[in-house]
Amino acid sequence: MPKALLTIESLVKNYGGGAVLNGIDLTVYEGEVLVILGPSGCGKSTLLRCINALEPIQAGTISLNGEPIRRDSKDLPRLRQKVGMVFQSYELFPHLSVLDNITLSPRKAQRRPRQEAEAEALALLDRVGLKDRAGDYPRQLSGGQKQRVAIVRALIMHPEVLLFDEVTAALDPEMVREVLDVILDLARQGRTMLIVTHEMQFARAVADRVVLLDEGRIVEEAPPEEFFDHPKTERAQRFLNTLTFETVKKKAKNQ
Ligand code: ADP
Ligand code: MG
Repeated sequence: MPKALLTIESLVKNYGGGAVLNGIDLTVYEGEVLVILGPSGCGKSTLLRCINALEPIQAGTISLNGEPIRRDSKDLPRLRQKVGMVFQSYELFPHLSVLDNITLSPRKAQRRPRQEAEAEALALLDRVGLKDRAGDYPRQLSGGQKQRVAIVRALIMHPEVLLFDEVTAALDPEMVREVLDVILDLARQGRTMLIVTHEMQFARAVADRVVLLDEGRIVEEAPPEEFFDHPKTERAQRFLNTLTFETVKKKAKNQ
């Protein structure tokens, strides 16, 4: 039986109005890749932000390895280091080199020696094909390169779980693949990950399990083949239908 790493129970979140997350129950197992799908505004980013305690929650619990992640906990900084997050917008410091962007947190928050942090940063940059860009500044990099640096910056903290929020949504199409390949590589290494994405082929390739979120609830949960080929709920069928185009020419010919 795989070990539960992240456990979310009866999570309720609102921003003042109605509930944005309305009773989420979700367990993510060690080494599992969970893909979260859903229409815009359904609460995907909010869910990831709650897991990292970036947002206060109104009810329920979120725990990592059985330890509750709470905003009022003295342990929050330590727990947060175990949850790595990568955003659509990279969030790199423009005035710091790639190497300094990556080593800032391990040196400050984990008090690791500069030399050790830099050696690991270079090894990780090598792994994502960017070793020769260590001295560059973010403005000198393409979007795809910046996003790979942002992934390295998360990895160097040795997180137990990685959260990806539409990390390719702002990229030009030709750069999407280089970032998704890095995430596929992390999946092969057995990393535990929660991935929000609109790249359906990638979702299918990387996911162990797919969750469809709608109006703040999980409406379907299944292995990728089952989810994409045999969606059970009407809601999932409708969601998938919005993503596929019928072949217009062929249709006209058959009429
Ligand atoms: P998704 O990532 O699935 O597109 P979000 O989690 O960003 O959805 O948003 C879910 C809902 O919460 C939306 O209706 C959005 O307008 C609302 N929301 C998100 N962030 C805030 C905020 N900081 N303040 C108020 N409402 C917000
Ligand atoms: Mg979002």
